[in-house]
Amino acid sequence: MVKEKATDLQDIVSHCKKLGFIYQSSEIYGGLSAVYDYGPYGILLKNNIKEYWWKAMVQMNENIVGLDAAIFMDPKVWKASGHTDAFNDPLIDNKDSKKRYRADQLIEDYIQNKIQKKIDKDVAKGKKRFGDSFDKEQFLATDKRSLERQQKIDSILNRMNNALNAADLDDVKQLIVDLGIVCPHSGSKNWTDVRQFNLMFSTQGGGATSEDVLYLRPETAQGIFVNFLNVLNTSRQKIPFGIAQIGKAFRNEIVARQFVFRMREFEQMEMQFFVRPGDQMKFYEFWKEARMKWHLALGTAADKLKYHNHEALAHYADAALDIEFKFPFGFKELEGIHSRTDFDLKAHQELSGKKIQYFDPELKESYIPYVVETSIGCDRMFLALLSDAYHAEMVPDAKGGMDERIVLKIHPSVAPVKCAVLPLVRSNEELTNKASEIFDAIKYSFNCQYDEKGSIGKRYRRQDELGTPFCITIDGQSLEDNTVTIRERDSMKQERVSVELIEKIVSEGVDMRNLLKQL
Ligand code: ATP
Repeated sequence: MVKEKATDLQDIVSHCKKLGFIYQSSEIYGGLSAVYDYGPYGILLKNNIKEYWWKAMVQMNENIVGLDAAIFMDPKVWKASGHTDAFNDPLIDNKDSKKRYRADQLIEDYIQNKIQKKIDKDVAKGKKRFGDSFDKEQFLATDKRSLERQQKIDSILNRMNNALNAADLDDVKQLIVDLGIVCPHSGSKNWTDVRQFNLMFSTQGGGATSEDVLYLRPETAQGIFVNFLNVLNTSRQKIPFGIAQIGKAFRNEIVARQFVFRMREFEQMEMQFFVRPGDQMKFYEFWKEARMKWHLALGTAADKLKYHNHEALAHYADAALDIEFKFPFGFKELEGIHSRTDFDLKAHQELSGKKIQYFDPELKESYIPYVVETSIGCDRMFLALLSDAYHAEMVPDAKGGMDERIVLKIHPSVAPVKCAVLPLVRSNEELTNKASEIFDAIKYSFNCQYDEKGSIGKRYRRQDELGTPFCITIDGQSLEDNTVTIRERDSMKQERVSVELIEKIVSEGVDMRNLLKQL
């Protein structure tokens, strides 16, 4: 019997550090906040996620092509896109603790800790008292205290959103004062005024532009928009078609927390799909379904993924939703799907003075295409994948007792190491030679690892921690009849097979096509 323990974020952070998936940037100098480096296994897993995304987009769709635009762009790009003027978060400092916060997050945390928690507590009490017959929805719709609390939440959020939309920062501050919000560090109410903080990092031009300031791109999308004409004129694509790109983006997040969920330097995988005006909702629905399928194919439990429709739309969007994943800290945005209208291409046409239009041969007219985009953070996807895959299980040990094993049940097609080659004992040269021979024969086909150090049980555990789908063990019998045991990670079942079959079994088990065929 296998028994499981719940996972929290600290388990994932510790695991990533211990195994060499992720390290904090500049750790020997104390660590740079919200910037991370990917270690030997992290980079393998991250590359596999990118390969799966790229193949699902570019290889599988003849009407999607790839692009790799530069991080630096003409500063006018960010003027046209609205980032220079409006890519802001409301910032507030506490004068006593000198700690800095996002004003909207302070208010949301207040709602969660001071009001929502009380509602949740009453729900839990009701569940305890009435068991299975307790109807949560009905309770929330009829219980007087819960209704009053919900009304209070709605009225706070309403006031906050109105103030933010009207850029009325004085009222955002006043709301914090009226609610009596204290600094979580000092307990003090000694706040500065709220001010807008632009999230773009800037640097000097160095002759690359006539302007003094260059920005590190805060999203990859604009590289696609400004190359729309180039791609159109060189790729023989006709609308509808898409451009896909994977690349770094930079945001000076005010409060960066939750590990690689919110970083200052991160990687995005974005696809902009250009469509005829009026067709956008059809493609929005299409990509909404297609992207959910991509996630589900990885074996992620369906109840850990959900859509969240945006009520308040960004100025450029006529529809938007997030695919949310149930991280150890709750459901949060993993991917955004946005119908961006013709906002970006139109803005670049206006500011550059260059006509950015498409002549539709069927309609015999020119127009600025509409855009439906899918945008996912590679690092957030990495965290989602690990959170879903990490299992601490109690499993039977060799002595008839129970032992804990940590195992990453990652889909074999994206697992960092596909196969480990393990001679049963290190001291037997015949065994280690045979194992090396096997390793040398199969290493051309997939990423494998040779390991002869420690007991075989410990080596299996280490491969389980890495998420390696297959372990090949070479023992005394292997020398006699050219067979090995092959152990499958999740079931821990071992089977004896002929050496000739290893490559075929592993290749079939880890083939990326297993994922792509489900899309
Ligand atoms: P959030 O509301 O969480 O800040 P966002 O709505 O600003 O995210 P988008 O601008 O839609 O995010 O970016 C698209 C995707 O890029 C997000 O769904 C997320 O996966 C990823 N992403 C955005 N900001 C970060 C970040 N600071 N660190 C890591 N990934 C990020």
